[in-house]
Amino acid sequence: MTASAPPLEADEIYRFYRAGDEETRALRGISLAVAAGEFVAVTGPSGSGKSTLLACLGGLDEPDGGTVRVGGVRISHRPQVERTALRAHLIGMLFQSGNMLEHLTVRANVDLVQRLAGRPDPAWRNTLLDELGLADRDRARPAQLSGGESARAGLAVALANRPAVLLADEPTGELDRRTERRVLDLLRDRAAQGTAVVVASHSPAVAAAADRTLTLDEGRPS
Ligand code: ADP
Ligand code: MG
Repeated sequence: MTASAPPLEADEIYRFYRAGDEETRALRGISLAVAAGEFVAVTGPSGSGKSTLLACLGGLDEPDGGTVRVGGVRISHRPQVERTALRAHLIGMLFQSGNMLEHLTVRANVDLVQRLAGRPDPAWRNTLLDELGLADRDRARPAQLSGGESARAGLAVALANRPAVLLADEPTGELDRRTERRVLDLLRDRAAQGTAVVVASHSPAVAAAADRTLTLDEGRPS
């Protein structure tokens, strides 16, 4: 990490999907910089490019043009193995579902993600589960959790390696309003502790909780 660089910086990101003669221009020149402690919402209608943008920011997908830097280090246009290593150390990703392996307990899921990054840290795992209100659910398996518990456990997995950047794609999509608010409070807490947080969502509650909103329309800022 470069001390002066923002945790997350995207410069003129383009992403096109081609199938035969069909071309979908999913992202058309998106730039974004997120500072430590900032909470940015990415909004826009379904199909506007929110998920594609988060995948490019997190190095899960490779943009066709433009550059993504995390902590000053370029993550785009690198071999996948290098992108994966950078992601493991610098980025936490949270999705609506599928954050955990179903056959492992909550605690084992967090431990696994730490071990994959080569950084076992049981003290941080305990702190995290405690802060997220999961200390007494740590031996539960994903199928045994309520919607709110499941969202918080997914967040614990995303934060397992103390990432500088947290990217969340529709993390509250399946939650009732009260539970959504609780999860948004937790995301705000992470930002207050210095994490750069980006949340893609069409929920007005997410935009209302954010410091700043980037609205996409057919892959462009609107
Ligand atoms: P959002 O998350 O805002 O709903 P997406 O980023 O999922 O939007 O999709 C943006 C556009 O890119 C849509 O038109 C979608 O159909 C298209 N798209 C997304 N992923 C793929 C893919 N793997 N192959 C082809 N088209 C895709
Ligand atoms: Mg999406």
